Amino acid sequence: MNDKNEALRDVLLYVQKGPAAMTEMSSHDVARALERTDVVLLPFGALEAHGDHLPLGADSMEAREICRRAALQLEADGCPVVIGPVIPFGTSNFHLGYAGTVSLKPETLIALSRDVCLSLYQSGFRRFVFVHGHDGSLPSMMVAAQILVEETPDAEAMVLNWLTPLSKVYHTIQVSQATEGHGGEGETSRLLVTHPELVHPDRSAPFHVTREEMRKLQGPEHIKTGGAIFYSTRKYPHYYIGTPGLARSETGEKGYAVIVEWICRVIKRDLFGRTE
Ligand SMILES: [Zn+2]
Repeated sequence: MNDKNEALRDVLLYVQKGPAAMTEMSSHDVARALERTDVVLLPFGALEAHGDHLPLGADSMEAREICRRAALQLEADGCPVVIGPVIPFGTSNFHLGYAGTVSLKPETLIALSRDVCLSLYQSGFRRFVFVHGHDGSLPSMMVAAQILVEETPDAEAMVLNWLTPLSKVYHTIQVSQATEGHGGEGETSRLLVTHPELVHPDRSAPFHVTREEMRKLQGPEHIKTGGAIFYSTRKYPHYYIGTPGLARSETGEKGYAVIVEWICRVIKRDLFGRTE
């Protein structure tokens, strides 16, 4: 092995903390878990450009981390769940102009999600919680959930858009007063919490759009109302929006706390009948 290979081999990319997701569990482990719960959290990720400062799999890593933290909290509250496999691709067509991005057509993501859920249904799971890392996949996730419950009437599916609660408090937890979006201060901060070796905030200069342009792209009113705007391939103005250089892991921790508190509250109330 030459020196370069040796250096590559020894790079620590990141550390994955527990609890284990199904990818790290044995079939026996899953069967044991099914004796305690039929709820599975499915992290929906993506492989798409986020600027030079973040890895292509950022959304998969965030969705996985949200599910990991939620599973820990829910277990502590007596509401056990299993973390399913990360769906590594989403509908990312507006980033296809940037190298490395892989995008599924909506019908592909719907079919993939359906097959994953029907397989897990065969195992014994009945309640499916879809957790997005990439909001562009939300419409397809909703259709997949609708198809799933039509085909398996004793199943329940829930699609959780955590951008709704997070968007309400972003201005209190971020440093930036400018428009921050895809790959901006908030998202970069969340990646710093879990994958600091893969995050390089200094590599990307601030890039901002006007508030009006931002509203058109992903404005909170669209998110809050559940509506959305769709635009054609390659019209996204840049591969990140915001000020990655302001990212701090403390900001990421605060963001995760808001997201996980909300997700756990909804799951406990709607799937476990907890009203406190
Ligand atoms: Zn992202």
